[in-house]
Amino acid sequence: MKVIIIGASHGGHQSALELLDKYPDADVTIYEKGDFVSFLSCGMQLFLEDKVSGVDDVRNFKPEDIEKRGGKVKSQHEVLSFDADKKEVTVKNLATGDVLTDTYDKLILSSGVTPAALPVPGADKANIFFMRGRDWALKIKEKMQDPTVKNVAVIGSGYIGVEAAEVFAKAGKKVTIIDMIDDVLGNYLDKDLTDILAPVFEGNGIALALGASITGFAGDDAVTGVETATGTIDADLVIVAAGVTPNTAWLKGLVDLEPRGQIKVDDYLRTSAKDVYAVGDAILPLNIASGKHAPVALASTARREARYVIRNIEADTPTEKFRGVLGTSALSVFDYKFAMTGLNDFSAARSDVAVTGSFFKDTLRPSFVENDGNTDVYVKLNYDQDTHKILGGQVMSTYDVTAQINALALAITTGLTLEDLAEADFFFQPGFDRQWSLLNLAAQAALGETK
Ligand code: FAD
Repeated sequence: MKVIIIGASHGGHQSALELLDKYPDADVTIYEKGDFVSFLSCGMQLFLEDKVSGVDDVRNFKPEDIEKRGGKVKSQHEVLSFDADKKEVTVKNLATGDVLTDTYDKLILSSGVTPAALPVPGADKANIFFMRGRDWALKIKEKMQDPTVKNVAVIGSGYIGVEAAEVFAKAGKKVTIIDMIDDVLGNYLDKDLTDILAPVFEGNGIALALGASITGFAGDDAVTGVETATGTIDADLVIVAAGVTPNTAWLKGLVDLEPRGQIKVDDYLRTSAKDVYAVGDAILPLNIASGKHAPVALASTARREARYVIRNIEADTPTEKFRGVLGTSALSVFDYKFAMTGLNDFSAARSDVAVTGSFFKDTLRPSFVENDGNTDVYVKLNYDQDTHKILGGQVMSTYDVTAQINALALAITTGLTLEDLAEADFFFQPGFDRQWSLLNLAAQAALGETK
């Protein structure tokens, strides 16, 4: 079997690993248009905060890791097109300008996304940056150390924007997060939790300009401010983290695309072209909790999809559908650590699913534990009002309770109800938790039980 993979990031890497593991004799080639294989943007904050051994170590794999296992990795090779009838790809060697063709039995697309510029005047001024990939990581690092950069505006209060804001605040810059939505991280967390986090940002010197409508960027060549409907926010540097564009313009007419450019896939992650599959940020995966397709831009999602594709790649008629994902993810905000899975108020509304929420606040351990960091913990459970099936949840504390979310993800995947979660046999040990474990208590509270 000859397989061509496009894109050497999470989806491409996992596809190659699975293939070379399951089919040691397969002829596997990854084409990657970038010159550096395969920078791990997930580790960018760690790099910027000097927590890694070096920028070139922040990667998924080196070409030789795949080559040792019999695969080929061709960086600086951009795939321009493919012919589904001839089973051929057209590839440009970006170093030499040569254009070549290569053949495949199966083609896997993991071409990902690119950060989107804001469609407002001045968006092309100098010092308007994005936070994705090695080149931007290096440029951002330089600006962190540049004393002439005093005011940094971060546009977008999602995970990436928050990481950028924290990095610059810790580097001593005056940071403002600007977003059109009303709550910082409001696409990931429900208001019960964002209301706790907003003062944490402000307490760490990050101003929040929320509900803002950006009209343009001020400055001559270089940006000096972000213009909003209510005034201009000073900025010597702007990080735009407010949306992405799928890298699929070259696929127009070759495979069916969604209205916003993502690659359309069926229940088996097949595209509309025969023997062509797609994974990663460039598709809209099925959300297990909503039963609908929605964007989930996570490495963990790309890897699950790739594993599924390879498991079925030889089947002419696959029978087992891709189960879907929940967007399970975690982040820290200064001292706080949170994690979420499944539907929150924002994603439930976007998918037109009715959820009922229950917010639970407690202390981590029994109240008599006074001198050992017995901090507050917060859980939000979202569930179906009629069936009590759990559809989503969030956990947060200054203590690291993020692993609890994995139990919740499993509960949603297996269709558990509040009643199931209220009684699940989780451990108790007062050095760790209360007489009932955190998720037991949160589910009991959602059922109206007061303990
Ligand atoms: P991408 O990573 O977008 O890569 C696509 C690759 O394809 C690129 O290398 C591109 O050059 C190449 N390519 C595109 N078109 C062509 C072509 N025509 N020919 C050849 N090559 C092509 N996810 C998590 O799960 N956890 C995290 O903690 C996390 N943190 C993140 C932090 C940041 C700052 C960012 C930006 C993202 C983070 N993510 C995280 C998301 C994660 O990085 C993405 O979900 C993941 O990289 C998607 O992988 P992918 O394979 O779909 O595509």
